[in-house]
Amino acid sequence: MGSIQSDYEREIAQFGWDPRKADPSRLPGLVVFDLDFTLWPLWVDTHLDSEPVKYGSHTTTLLDIHGQELKLYRDVPAIFNLIKQLPNTRIAVASRTHTPARANKALRMMKISKVYDHDGGLSLLSGASGPADKLVPLEDFIDYCQIYPGSKVKHFQNIHNNSRVAYASMLFFDDEMRNEQVAKKLGVTFRLVDGPLRFVDVLDALKKFCQAP
Ligand SMILES: [Mg+2]
Repeated sequence: MGSIQSDYEREIAQFGWDPRKADPSRLPGLVVFDLDFTLWPLWVDTHLDSEPVKYGSHTTTLLDIHGQELKLYRDVPAIFNLIKQLPNTRIAVASRTHTPARANKALRMMKISKVYDHDGGLSLLSGASGPADKLVPLEDFIDYCQIYPGSKVKHFQNIHNNSRVAYASMLFFDDEMRNEQVAKKLGVTFRLVDGPLRFVDVLDALKKFCQAP
């Protein structure tokens, strides 16, 4: 048995470090995610023929006009919920896609379980809260959004200006090494994503961020 949520609680226990129990001031103020090949396994501008127009088998699976599937990586809902439980950490996305409307539509249409509660206490990821979960658009989890072609340096400058979070307090997940330029130019902590973004990768990156001198 066991819900997905309690599986992730188990993953945190196995990892041996829980960001929710870490000093919030040591954690990043902002975690920034690329979209294509970071949150889902395709380029929305080249692999889709249109905006998503309907749901596939799940609220995180969308279809374009020809039935091409856009599916959120499995661990993303748990990752976003985990970050939302960190009191000083917000979420941003930065994408250079040439079809911002498609990406925005996808973030609006995809719905995930919201198992965190700003007013709640501990173990918000636990299965205990399961049936009370409600589905909310993925975009509701995102505090800052920069989606348009160009350089990610510009995306980050805008995110910085909007959020007032220091570059040194940003953690950035992206599948393309060339986007490490934001780390070199601005001092953002860069984490290369290789294959589906996994819950444990985010735990590991948060831990390393916390423990950096
Ligand atoms: Mg990408």
